[in-house]
Amino acid sequence: MSFLSGGTAQLTNRAQTALTAIRVPRAAMLQAMADIPEMSDIIITVLAARRRRLIESGQAGLTLIGAEDDRAVGRIEAFAAQNRIPFRALAIGSPEALALATRCGIPSDGPGVVLGERTVLTDPTPRMLARHMGLDLAVEADAAFDVVIVGAGPAGLAAAVYAGAEGLCALVVDELAVGGQAATSSRIENYMGFPTGISGADLCARGEIQALKFGTRFAVPRRVTGVAPAARGFSVTLDDGVKVNALSIVVATGVQYRRLPLERLEDLEGAGVSYAATELEARHVQGRSAVIVGGGNSAGQAAMYLSRRAAEVHLVVRGPSLAASMSDYLIERIRKNPAITLHFNAQVTALHGDTRLDGVTLRDPSGERHLPAAGLFIMVGAAPNTGWLAGLVDLDAKGFVITDGDHAASCPGIFEVGDVRAGSVKRVASSVGEGSVVISAVWAHVAALRGDA
Ligand SMILES: Cc1cc2nc3c(=O)[nH]c(=O)nc-3n(C[C@H](O)[C@H](O)[C@H](O)COP(=O)(O)OP(=O)(O)OC[C@H]3O[C@@H](n4cnc5c(N)ncnc54)[C@H](O)[C@@H]3O)c2cc1C
Repeated sequence: MSFLSGGTAQLTNRAQTALTAIRVPRAAMLQAMADIPEMSDIIITVLAARRRRLIESGQAGLTLIGAEDDRAVGRIEAFAAQNRIPFRALAIGSPEALALATRCGIPSDGPGVVLGERTVLTDPTPRMLARHMGLDLAVEADAAFDVVIVGAGPAGLAAAVYAGAEGLCALVVDELAVGGQAATSSRIENYMGFPTGISGADLCARGEIQALKFGTRFAVPRRVTGVAPAARGFSVTLDDGVKVNALSIVVATGVQYRRLPLERLEDLEGAGVSYAATELEARHVQGRSAVIVGGGNSAGQAAMYLSRRAAEVHLVVRGPSLAASMSDYLIERIRKNPAITLHFNAQVTALHGDTRLDGVTLRDPSGERHLPAAGLFIMVGAAPNTGWLAGLVDLDAKGFVITDGDHAASCPGIFEVGDVRAGSVKRVASSVGEGSVVISAVWAHVAALRGDA
């Protein structure tokens, strides 16, 4: 299996914009990257630094008007942030938004998504934006792979790197973006090798580049909707109707956040109610009040992070303390942080606000009261993404996949790694570890099917 087999076209897609911008002949550059590993190190480092600079400086070819007020634009904002696409966010009616609206011929009092100086995306969707930006990674119907990895969080990305490195022809499919839950963590401090911490999005973007470098392909944003046994392996169906063939499948679909049983929750999701605390959400609570529900590490990290931007942060915990659910180092930092108020034996019982959240009702042993809130962050655990496996593998009572010691599920040829696996340690490092080691079992399965074991 050659170093860049199957992956060159995708590497072209991802690197295209950046390579064009620095005016280097693309084909020559890609050839150099494939031939000289040292050269690829330099190019990847430079491109990553350039992307980071663009994001930090707010210089961007993508402008979003009214992301706070319009759900569709809000979804584009979330997609751009998770995919590390630099963008500029303008408030409706701001002088810059008015000037842009006039230039593009769009209503000055409404939301908008503009590419460059004049290209307006009418009825914008993440996939449409991905297509415009050359980031829509499709896969051709009936393509055949040794392994299809479902989910591009830390577990799926690690499997993607090792599969490529071990010469397997691999496809990674993710319904949203590369990074999974980890991409929503502003700073991961307990991942070995990064003593000052690293943003989850940064870590995963590096994993993606590393996997592409080894020839693994990506289909993003695409959801796997079903898997059926085939003559040799499996037929995997994607949400655009395309079916691909796989000798084996690595399930790395992680978990999704649990909701709270609150009236109007769905109406206010994306309009003040969030399940992650990234730069995006922090901007929306700048100088205002943020309420976080949950007593685990993600709630603690969110409280610390948001306390740098919000005027006040309320951490609402159902139990009587944090000791059982949060790491000691975080508890210590939270206790010392004057911007964070802890509410124990407490819960949020109602949401307030017309089109956007502006407050919540808090109930604790002293009674009920109103708290102003520009943002409510719900961090109360998660349920596994296993619905699409539909009876193919054994699940435990909570829906997590039961595996043996080699991460093999009850159906031969299907392997599980990361948060979706019953009994897994829900951490980046353990997910990366599982995604890395599973490939030796996948390799043995594929070799036996091919008859070259
Ligand atoms: C806010 C936050 C902070 C955290 N901080 C830390 C930390 O500091 N340290 C630490 O060790 N851990 C941390 N964690 C936990 C860590 O991020 C997870 O344990 C880890 O991301 C799990 O990786 P995974 O690959 O198993 O799953 P996930 O990261 O959940 O990725 C699963 C991926 O699968 C995709 N997917 C799901 N269903 C489908 C489908 N049908 N088709 C295609 N794609 C699909 C999803 O879009 C997602 O990208 C944090 C988690 C959160 C939410």
